[in-house]
Amino acid sequence: MRVTVVPALADNYIHIAEEEGGGRAIVADPGEAAPAIAFLKNANAAAEAVLITHMHSDHTAGLGELRRAFPAAVVYAPANSGIAGAIGVGEGDCFSVFDGAISFRVLETPGHTAEHISFFANGGGNGNNAGGDDSNRALFCGDTLFCGGCGRLLGGTAKQMRLSLEKLQTLPGETKIYCGHEYTENNLKFALAAEPDNAELRARIKTVAALRAKGMPTVPSAMAAEKATNPFLRLREETIIAAAQKQLNRPPRDPDETFAALRKWKDNF
Ligand SMILES: [Zn+2]
Repeated sequence: MRVTVVPALADNYIHIAEEEGGGRAIVADPGEAAPAIAFLKNANAAAEAVLITHMHSDHTAGLGELRRAFPAAVVYAPANSGIAGAIGVGEGDCFSVFDGAISFRVLETPGHTAEHISFFANGGGNGNNAGGDDSNRALFCGDTLFCGGCGRLLGGTAKQMRLSLEKLQTLPGETKIYCGHEYTENNLKFALAAEPDNAELRARIKTVAALRAKGMPTVPSAMAAEKATNPFLRLREETIIAAAQKQLNRPPRDPDETFAALRKWKDNF
């Protein structure tokens, strides 16, 4: 499976995964139809499936036109999405594409919105297969986990988002993180304010700046890098607890308070 990050709208990404050998593809979060259709035409590939992580229009607005171009495409979306003909999926649901070559497992990841789901792809067989091909492990996580950060709370609670991020954190370290926006540089500026002495974070900031200077996407990252540098995945680290304490003017009572303090700080950063 080869995944291409296709820019759309102002700073969105549509992710298109192509079958090895070509011909078929999966499209994640088509916020705009034209760039996805142009990519697929150029690749000579037909959309076999469309993945929808949540119902914000910058992730769904291209769906109608994309389906008109590829009427056979199966749409997987959150339960009760209201999308006509879509298959509603929730926690633990599995499906496969490319005649079973790639399996997907659905994780419910509320917080950014209440209905938000993420799709974990595993090319090794089933979604839980620890012996699978590492290079094919990919997470399509919309606006839940960002490279270096996480989504705003626009419908879910801090506790929901904290639990969703903890769930994603249990995925293998080599899992590639395909998120919905190019927000990495700003996210890492905030991360540095929270953890100025994190050496791995400082190194990542340099790598990301070099990519952006060349106009290249910073997506995907890998889960291991996120766990080492993303403050929202580090709620139990002393440094992050201390940063939250500074915001609250008292020690946070639990990881939910640590998360909420960081998220509020970032909202105004
Ligand atoms: Zn969103």
